[in-house]
Parts: sequence; structure tokens; C-alpha cells
Amino acid sequence: MASLGPTPAAGLKRAVIFLGPPGAGKGTQAQEVARLYRIPHLSTGDMLRDHVARGTPLGLLAKPIMERGELVPDEIVLGMVEERISQPDCANGFVFDGFPRTLPQAEKLNEMLRRLGFNRPLVLYIVVDYDQVLKRLTGRRMCKVGGEIYNIYDRPPKVPGRCDNDGGELIQRPDDREEVIQERLVAYERQTKPLVDYYRSQGVLETVDGRPDVDAVTHSIMGILRRVQ
Ligand code: AMP
Repeated sequence: MASLGPTPAAGLKRAVIFLGPPGAGKGTQAQEVARLYRIPHLSTGDMLRDHVARGTPLGLLAKPIMERGELVPDEIVLGMVEERISQPDCANGFVFDGFPRTLPQAEKLNEMLRRLGFNRPLVLYIVVDYDQVLKRLTGRRMCKVGGEIYNIYDRPPKVPGRCDNDGGELIQRPDDREEVIQERLVAYERQTKPLVDYYRSQGVLETVDGRPDVDAVTHSIMGILRRVQ
């Protein structure tokens, strides 16, 4: 891990949003920011995968949509998010990863944040090359137990196929197969990318060069967070 100076005081008192295409490194960076600030990491993808694994009605509805690489309807995701950010452990701020992904989600989130007494969110837009996205997605492996993220090309686990933290089995997400990746990138361009202009016009967007290695990107993100705090 890069030397990041003293651990920041607990909390950021605001919502941090990671924006960028699938494979930009949002999950990895969001986990790190949440760990350093000791605030929850809220991945709507993880929440949905949990519903799918448990076979809940929501999971049954979301499963085929996710397998096609499309977006789950806004109402479903918004319900999950509202429920989660109203919990006491979110009072000091939280890090979103994979949310919001559509304009209506972003607009509803602004309303929710106002209602819950938070300031405007901080949006970190991670910019990467297309080739890098493909390599990161096809090489990504995820711990079945704790959700830790690895990459067989440039962030391999110490023991192949096993998580460094808990020894859990590392699996490939079904939607990280090449046929589905294309669909996910189309969904990103059409539905999520417009959020860059939306947040830029609100003056809350910070652009991050996501091309260097993981530690270097974390370092620039921490610099931004210190500056805007
Ligand atoms: P992720 O783990 O963020 O790549 O998300 C995996 C999949 O879950 C996406 O391809 C969508 O099908 C679904 N998903 C996750 N977050 C959202 C969201 N905010 N809105 C709609 N669908 C989502």
C-alpha cells in the first residue's frame, strides 16, 4: 500500500460517489477510501448479488437483468439505497460504488441526502483507457467470502485462487465474461455517462486519472479528499 500519511479522522460527513466505466477500479478504490475513513462501503452491485445468492424476490427479479449486463430498475436500487443510508453507521458519511447509475437515481439521491441532513456529495470520476477496462474486467476475481477484489494480471493473490485476507475462494463474476462486458459498457455509455455532466454542472465533480497502479490512484484520491474536506 502507498504511504498515505496519518490515517484520516473517522468519517467524511458526506457521501462520496465513484463514477466511471465498469473496470475503472471503482470497487477497489471505494473499499480503500471506506477503510481509511472508517465509513461504510456501499456497493449496489454487492447488495444485488447478495439478494441473488439468497434467492429473495428482489434477487430473482434482478438476476436475469444482471446476467444480461443491463441495469436493474431505478425503484429497486433506490429502495435498497434509502434503507441502507438511513442506518446509524452511515451518519459519518459513506462511499458509493456503482450508484447512482442513471439520472433519475442521481436526482433522487440528492433529495435523500438533503432529507437526511447531508451536504452535497463529492463525485470522483475515474478516467481509464478502453483496453485497460477490458483487461481489468476479464482479469478480475472476487473473494466469495468477503468480496475482496483481485486481478490475475496486475493484482494477483499470494496463493492463486485464494483470498489473502480470509483464504476464501476467488471466483469470476458471471457478468465479467466477454459477451456480457460489451452490454455493460453500452449501458454505461448510454445511461451512466451523462452523470458526468450532471455532477460537473453542480460543481461537485473531481476527475481522477485511473491509469496508474492501484496505490498511485489511491494516493491521488486521498489528496483530493484532504483538499476538499
Ligand atoms: P457492479 O458490481 O457495480 O458492476 O454491478 C453489477 C450489476 O448490478 C450491474 O451490471 C447492474 O445490472 C446491477 N447494478 C448495480 N448497481 C446498479 C445501479 N445503481 N442501478 C442499476 N443496476 C445496478
